[in-house]
Amino acid sequence: MSRGDPLIRLEGVGKTFDDGTVAVKDLDLEIEEDAFVCFLGPSGCGKTTTLRLIAGLENPTTGEVFLRGRRITDWPPQRRGVGLVFQNYALFQHMTVRSNLAFGLEVRGTPRREVARRVQDMAARLDLEEVLGVRASRLDLSTMQRVAVGRTLVAEPNVLLLDEPLNNFQAGLREQMRAQLKSWQQQFGRATIYVTHDQEEAMTLGDRIVVMRDGEVEQEGPPEQVYGRPETLFVAGFIGLPPMNLLPARLDGSTGRVSLADASLELEAGTKERPSGDVVVGVRPEHLLPVEGEVDGRPRLRGVIDLVRPMAAKTIVDVRLEGGTTVRALTRGIVRGEPGEPVTLAFDPMAVVLFDRSTGLRID
Ligand code: ATP
Repeated sequence: MSRGDPLIRLEGVGKTFDDGTVAVKDLDLEIEEDAFVCFLGPSGCGKTTTLRLIAGLENPTTGEVFLRGRRITDWPPQRRGVGLVFQNYALFQHMTVRSNLAFGLEVRGTPRREVARRVQDMAARLDLEEVLGVRASRLDLSTMQRVAVGRTLVAEPNVLLLDEPLNNFQAGLREQMRAQLKSWQQQFGRATIYVTHDQEEAMTLGDRIVVMRDGEVEQEGPPEQVYGRPETLFVAGFIGLPPMNLLPARLDGSTGRVSLADASLELEAGTKERPSGDVVVGVRPEHLLPVEGEVDGRPRLRGVIDLVRPMAAKTIVDVRLEGGTTVRALTRGIVRGEPGEPVTLAFDPMAVVLFDRSTGLRID
């Protein structure tokens, strides 16, 4: 290990299964010590396979895996010191919580006293002391999760790998367990890789998000960057509830003006050195504000209300623009309106993200 090596590095890692399925393609990725990294993407994009490649449960077809600078591509899982928590927790149901926590240490031949000390310590930290003598089969879901995480952490892994661990939880408890996981990670200071297809989960938990699509990394970065500065049309359309509005437009390279196809307006985009061409204007729903009459110099979209959906403290308003496209505005508070009512939406041109329509890449 040399200073500056990340905890884990994937270099050109690919995985093609025997049946020809390409699950992961030429992946380059670095996971830093203490990071909480979320792999996010639609079903089948290769999140679990990437996690299994890091764990050593799958061998890559191409590329190399490094742990603190050491090549570990051929190392078996137990030698890598990774802690994997499965979606179904895979506890030994007939064994007590104490035995479940102790099992991994015992098979590794850890002295009995040391096992007892570490189990006791973990039980105290995860509030499991009262259930140490209870069989796993009798535990409720959230306690099972604590045991599953505790059983993994007790072995002091280099990295904790979690594959959709909250899938079985209902909404309220899920939110509670999310907060719990984040605080454990801060408390134990372990690098954590967390697989999820739930963007809200990724946004609240991760200090870095890796957005995957078709076995490749589409964008990687802190949540606010992935949300605010999506690098591709895919990320723009995938992240956000509701996702970013994407409107076809034309960029005039000589003037730097962008004309939206769906509405009679133009906006200065500060893209004077770009070639003219077809672009897509991305505006987050929260940046579209229903306004009355003519206000300041902000660009406006005109249309009619399609649907108004109150969402507790917010309202989603679907607006059909003059050109036929529907956009979504997300406003604070309750908005009243009937379908067919004319509405004007204003937005700040600074909040717009531009994409090249042919490549799908952001234009800066
Ligand atoms: P999900 O959220 O649905 O689990 P994922 O993003 O985790 O999706 P993976 O499970 O990594 O995706 O799967 C990526 C692709 O590889 C999918 O097309 C999947 O069907 C395929 N795949 C996964 N495991 C195998 C296997 N053992 N043999 C063949 N194909 C596989």
